[in-house]
Amino acid sequence: MARDRSPKCKQCRREGAKLFLKGERCLTEKCSFERRSYPPGQHGRGRIKQSEYLLQLREKQKARRTYRLLEDQFRSYYEKAARKSGVTGENLLRILEMRLDNVIFRLGFAASRDQARQLVRHGHFQVNGRRVNIPSYQVKPNDIISMRLGSTAEKIIREATDLTASVAPWLQADHDGLTGKILKAPDRAEIDTAVQESLIVELYNK
Ligand code: SF4
Repeated sequence: MARDRSPKCKQCRREGAKLFLKGERCLTEKCSFERRSYPPGQHGRGRIKQSEYLLQLREKQKARRTYRLLEDQFRSYYEKAARKSGVTGENLLRILEMRLDNVIFRLGFAASRDQARQLVRHGHFQVNGRRVNIPSYQVKPNDIISMRLGSTAEKIIREATDLTASVAPWLQADHDGLTGKILKAPDRAEIDTAVQESLIVELYNK
């Protein structure tokens, strides 16, 4: 499956924010963004003219890169969000949060969303006792997530839990038993992704 192969730290520097794409390294002083928080490239430290379009584009790219999606996938989530009742931007973030790979990351069972996606793809997790290897799978309230019994990735998963300082309030995690529960769909205030979703909606509404 196609994915964004551009250097991860450059993606953070381009978006002007830590996107936590590299697991443990992001928590150390080796983080490139900590050392060089200006955009990459020859003109990275020059003045960039901020147009309305550029601001909207950057917010969309930041969200897309945070959740590790390609443009087409991201746009189709936007269209799905726009069809739902309620605030489109919040719907969008909620749908993205409830992807299985994101939930695995939020539960602390993976050090990054990329790692979560790989673990899901390789069949290391179950939802309600059934193996699910689709990273985009949408979880629902009361779903139970668990590591597949006998999974060869147990060591990696346990190491990831050691890096986890806290679990999102709409989730419940048992790091000893390697299980988790979806308590509810998240409210906007419970999603700590630092994007202004209204700018994304404005961009797609042009
Ligand atoms: Fe981003 Fe820093 Fe992690 Fe690199 S190490 S991916 S710059 S947060």
